[in-house]
Amino acid sequence: MPQLIAGNWKMHMLRGPAGELAAGVRAGARGLACELLVCPPFTAIETVARALGGSEVAVGGQDCHPKGQGAHTGDVSAAMLRDAGASWVILGHSERRQNHGETDELIREKVLAAVDAGLMPIVCVGETEDQRVAGQETEVVGWQIAGSLPKPFAGVVAYEPVWAIGTGRTATEQDVAIMHAFIREELGRQFGEAGQGIRILHGGSMRPANAASLLAVRHVGGGLIGGASLKADDFLAIARAARGADGV
Ligand code: PEP
Repeated sequence: MPQLIAGNWKMHMLRGPAGELAAGVRAGARGLACELLVCPPFTAIETVARALGGSEVAVGGQDCHPKGQGAHTGDVSAAMLRDAGASWVILGHSERRQNHGETDELIREKVLAAVDAGLMPIVCVGETEDQRVAGQETEVVGWQIAGSLPKPFAGVVAYEPVWAIGTGRTATEQDVAIMHAFIREELGRQFGEAGQGIRILHGGSMRPANAASLLAVRHVGGGLIGGASLKADDFLAIARAARGADGV
């Protein structure tokens, strides 16, 4: 399976610049070995989906509500994301877990809603700095996997140590190797044979200078990129460092 390079644009980009960024990504995407995905804010999904129409680059949302519709002021359903042109959705990002109090149980419900609407979910897991200092990283991530992923699970997991997100600090290759091997084993333990095929993205300050070494680590199935996905050149440079068919 090819590696997946996914851009999380977070709360950046009005529609004009979003369309330009999407066009820039599209222009450099042809012939890449990896799969590409960009996840703009809700308001720019349709613009970006139009700019990328007929290209190899997929579009995703950054969150969805667990319910299909109803009295949920300010929320967006998975079907609405789909209707706007998304085929993927990021769920349980640490910024949602921390800033919106999202629990594993809520994230699991969101995954079910996403799959029901025909979206491919990317479920984020990762320990905080305090948890790592306390030596709890595998325990925390194991619980997040058990709690946030429904069974069966047809989606992607993104391991993002919270202390590496947006900080410029990256996990060492050794940390990455240990955690991705642990997650691969845990997916096998919790999901059996099917767990072996679940892609595990890595995220946390990935940029052109460190992408090749992080993406070369065993059991790294791609990258979830925040800051560096906001410039087409940087995002594409990371994509060029990614692997093709042997990328899981
Ligand atoms: C993220 O938010 O998923 C992320 C990895 O951000 P950054 O690349 O900026 O650390």
